[in-house]
Amino acid sequence: MAAASNLPGGTLHVVATPIGNLDDLSPRAQQTLRTVAAICAEDTRHTRQLLAHYGIQTPLLALHEHNEGEVADRLVARLQAGESLALVSDAGTPLVSDPGFRLVRAARAAGVRVSPLPGPCAFIAALSVAGLPSDRFVFEGFLPARAAARRERLLQLASEPRTLAFYESAHRIQDTLADLVAAFGAERPAVLARELTKLFETVLDGPLGTLQQRVAADPDQRRGEFVLLVHGVGEEADARVAEGRRLYAKLGEHLPPSTAAKLAAELSGAPRKALYGS
Ligand code: SAM
Repeated sequence: MAAASNLPGGTLHVVATPIGNLDDLSPRAQQTLRTVAAICAEDTRHTRQLLAHYGIQTPLLALHEHNEGEVADRLVARLQAGESLALVSDAGTPLVSDPGFRLVRAARAAGVRVSPLPGPCAFIAALSVAGLPSDRFVFEGFLPARAAARRERLLQLASEPRTLAFYESAHRIQDTLADLVAAFGAERPAVLARELTKLFETVLDGPLGTLQQRVAADPDQRRGEFVLLVHGVGEEADARVAEGRRLYAKLGEHLPPSTAAKLAAELSGAPRKALYGS
């Protein structure tokens, strides 16, 4: 394998940008964005505001999920011809629930040097202040938008022992909290990190049921952008309840609720009344 510095052509710099506070762009990121031939941006109008804040006038190119496949080859040709480019997304680290995967894959396949310029990432920022176990964790990104698919995914995750990280938007936060309570139980510890690095930054912690109530009671807690962190399944008893809920949901697709609950309780060893959600 060639050492990175021996690769011919230009470099694709994958540059993390702020998740809210415009001052969170590192000096090296500023220098790189100033000197590359062009910046590939998810939304050029959005990135222009960031560049204006720093007086950077580098040309912008649109690279988003709808055109990435199409423009990736052209961008790789420019890189191979010796130009260096930067890739940014609207917020945080590109490729983390954001476009860029196809371009990075194509660049690497073509032998182009791809270099990270690390910086903000919303779920890492949330994890760093949550006070939940963080030596091992699972990033789940956005849950499915459709209610049935979301519930199914959560039931699959209910017995996960590692801390779970989700992204969520303002218009679905209440539904997602309700589904989390149903799948994981109201007592599971969790943290809701909202508007990190911005004026209304709020980090709430408590059992899922309490977080659900706080968000329902206060419209301000439903505004902005969210990271939801959920403690992994803890004690053996939690694991039995998680398994019981999963079985109850599955069996309930084919059996009356009382029969499904009886069977799920027997098979999992969880108390029957713990299987009905909160
Ligand atoms: N690439 C980004 C990153 O590195 O975190 C994430 C992009 S994803 C499309 C946007 C989601 O990230 C939002 O819906 C929200 O869930 C989360 N997010 C972004 N900025 C945030 C912030 N300042 N506070 C809380 N969550 C944020």
